[in-house]
This record gives sequence, structure tokens and C-alpha cells, in this order.
Amino acid sequence: MFQKDSGWKAIDGAEKEKIFAFSEGYKTYLNQGKTERLACKVALEMAKAQGFVNLEEKDSLKAGDKVYMVNRDKNLFLAIIGQEAVEQGISFVISHIDCPRIDLKQNPVYGDSGLALFKTHYYGGIKKYQWTAIPLALHGVVMKANGEKVEISLGDEPGDPVLCITDLLPHLATDQMQKKATEIITGEGLNILAGSLPEEGSEKDAEKEALLKLLSEKYDICEEDFLSAELEAVPAFKATDVGFDRSLVGAYGHDDRVCAYTSLMAMFETENPVKTAVCLLTDKEEIGSMGSTGMRSAFFEYAVALLIEKTAGTYNELMLKRTFRNSKCLSSDVSAGVDPTYPEVHDKMNAPFIGRGVVLTKYTGSRGKSGTSDANAEFMGFVRRCFDEGEVFWQSGELGKVDAGGGGTIAQYVANLDMEVVDCGVPLLSMHAPFEIASKLDIYMAYKAYKAFYLQK
Ligand code: MN
Ligand code: MN
Repeated sequence: MFQKDSGWKAIDGAEKEKIFAFSEGYKTYLNQGKTERLACKVALEMAKAQGFVNLEEKDSLKAGDKVYMVNRDKNLFLAIIGQEAVEQGISFVISHIDCPRIDLKQNPVYGDSGLALFKTHYYGGIKKYQWTAIPLALHGVVMKANGEKVEISLGDEPGDPVLCITDLLPHLATDQMQKKATEIITGEGLNILAGSLPEEGSEKDAEKEALLKLLSEKYDICEEDFLSAELEAVPAFKATDVGFDRSLVGAYGHDDRVCAYTSLMAMFETENPVKTAVCLLTDKEEIGSMGSTGMRSAFFEYAVALLIEKTAGTYNELMLKRTFRNSKCLSSDVSAGVDPTYPEVHDKMNAPFIGRGVVLTKYTGSRGKSGTSDANAEFMGFVRRCFDEGEVFWQSGELGKVDAGGGGTIAQYVANLDMEVVDCGVPLLSMHAPFEIASKLDIYMAYKAYKAFYLQK
């Protein structure tokens, strides 16, 4: 099933129909879940509809039981209890649902030159110039001083206004255009335009006053409430087909909701697995997996500990360590497909191509494999067999030429727990841009790959 050419050449009309149909649900998921909180919320609703129940409310668990656990509204942990004891190992598929974006600062609101604006601090690795002059939506939560939580969502419903970061006109950009791409737009230059009507009777900061008054009327929040808020500006456009042949999907947030959605769908079709199956949607991958909702958080170990305790009726640290030692994990994250416009960054003998299926990436890292877990050959062999048995189109891939750059995923943190792990996901074009591109065939093959992995014997 290892593909050396376009996977489209190797499928029939019926399979193509399945592949195209699968992407429809995926586009809906993307449109509903543009932040980690929303992606978690929508996934939780889907899981509940599939019969998953709250892990913390169950006294005991048996084979076939389906449970979920939510961490701080930003992680979703789903498990299906296997026929074997949990201690004999779990099949994990772990993806992340945070994406590069523009966060509002804690003191964001200001007025200048007849306009009301927000100060921002970008999140994750972005080319800042890509985020100007495009429509932006704003999603997130504001915690008021009285403990009340206000949810804000603007720009994605039909008829909604959008927000925007402005850019300089070419006519006056003589100096700007001489600068390096990293400096064309500065971090402090990513200011979001949020209004322009002045507050009647206000002499100073009339536009800021008017915006604050409007926010107070609409959401019952005051300026100080931004101090306890998480508000994220994301592209306002919807996921859509790309190409005359509709073979690709263009969207904000493929990285890494493409792996989140495909692993969810694989999970929903897994019944009575031999090994306990776990699908984890994590957060903070784009900024190093830090924090209580990142992959380095002890939440992950806690949820696994609960599985042990509720299936075995007892728990100790040795059982947890043994569970991890016997477990296998697909760190499901995207990779960089060859872009014919930029062939110079890839070694074509080892790079993943769009349309050849899901990508197994043995190692990531940079400068001589620094910062990667580098999967064991034995485990690579196991995953190859899994995919071949599941008739999954797959390819191997490296993140760019040696010394061209590099990157990392959650794999290394999983590996540190004494688990076998390898990166496995969908190749993208324009990764981390506001509009990323993926092939419908690769999306479908990721789903098939995760399903084959969950059904391993
Ligand atoms: Mn990623
Ligand atoms: Mn990323």
C-alpha cells in the first residue's frame, strides 16, 4: 500500500465517491470549530451522540465501554475499553486542536485617528504578512469579575460583521517593501480594526468609548474584563473545495484539526477493539505543548490512571508505567507536502506528496535530528503492517531538506513516557497560512490509517 505515485490512479469510482463524501463532514467540523475550545466542544457533542459517557461519573468500566473526559474545555480524551486489560497497552492516536492565530492582549482596546482597535499577540509560528487584509472572526470567552462566563463569537454567522488587520497601500510602501519578510509586518503591528463610530459627547478617545459601550450593551462586559479573557482572531472564511475537480480542501486550521477529525471518525467506527483505544485532542502544540492543557500536562497520565483504576478496580504507579510501556501511539500531525513552486526545500526522494496518502514521519527535528523522538525501526515495521492490512495508502516523509529548517510535534513527549510513537498525518500545502490546502484522498487515508491502528491485534 506504499504509494510511489498519485493515489487517485489506484482507486475506482466508488472509492472516489466515499473519499469525496468524507470531506463534507470534515468541512462542517472545521467551520464549527475554529478555536481549540470550539473544536473540543463540537467533538464532545459528536462523541456523546455516539454513546460516549463521562469517565469521571463511571464507577467501573468493562470491555466495549465508551467514555470521555474533558480537560478545561480544551482537551478531549475518548476511550473505548478493549478486550485485553488496559495494562497490556493502549492504542493512542493523539492530535492537537490549537492552530496558529491572533490572540487579543490582556489590555487590548484603544482608539487612534478616528478608529477603534485591538492590540494583539500572535499565537504559534505565522508569516505575519499573511494575516493582514483578510476578514477575521473573533471567538472566545470572557470571565467577568462576578465569575460569570461570557462567550463571544463574531464573524462566522451569515450577516455577521468581520474584523481586519490593515496593511499599507503599495503607493506608500517604498520603505516597507525594502524590509525582510519577518519585518514587513511587526508583531506590534498586528492591530485589529474593530470600529469607527465615536461616542456622542465624548471628547477624548470617543471611538474607544463607543466600542466599549457597544461591548457592554451586547455582552455585558467592561474594559477590565479583558484581563480575564481568551479571545482569538481567526480567518472568517469557510472551508471550501479547491480546484476545478474539487479534489482538495482549502481551509483555516487543517493543522491539526484534519488529524483530530479523522481520528474521531476512526474512533466512532471502532467496536470492541482488542487493545483499549484512545483518541486524544490536545492543545498548545503550536507553542511547545506547555501548560495544563498541553501534551506535557499531567492530565494525560491522570486520564489513563482513571482507565486503569476503573477497569482493574485497583491502581498503583507500577500499573500506569506498565501501561505506557506496553502502549503504542500515532502522533497524528500534518506534514509539508511538496509544493512545485518551492521544490528547493525538499529532498524529493524522501518528501511526502499531495495525493499519495497518509504520511509516516519517522523523525522530525532540525539540525541533525535535534529535538525529535525518532521512531524505532521495529515500531515503523509494525505500523507498516497495520496500514497494509487496513489497505491504507501511505507514504513516508521528512519535514524538508536536511538543514532547511525543521520542527517538532508532541511525539517526543509521548516517547518520554516509555511508549512507542511515530508521527503520522496528512500532507499540506501552505501550512500555518490562514488558508491551508489538503487532498481529499489524504484526509480519507488518515481516517483509514487510524481505524486500522485501533483495530490492531
Ligand atoms: Mn501540527
Ligand atoms: Mn503546526
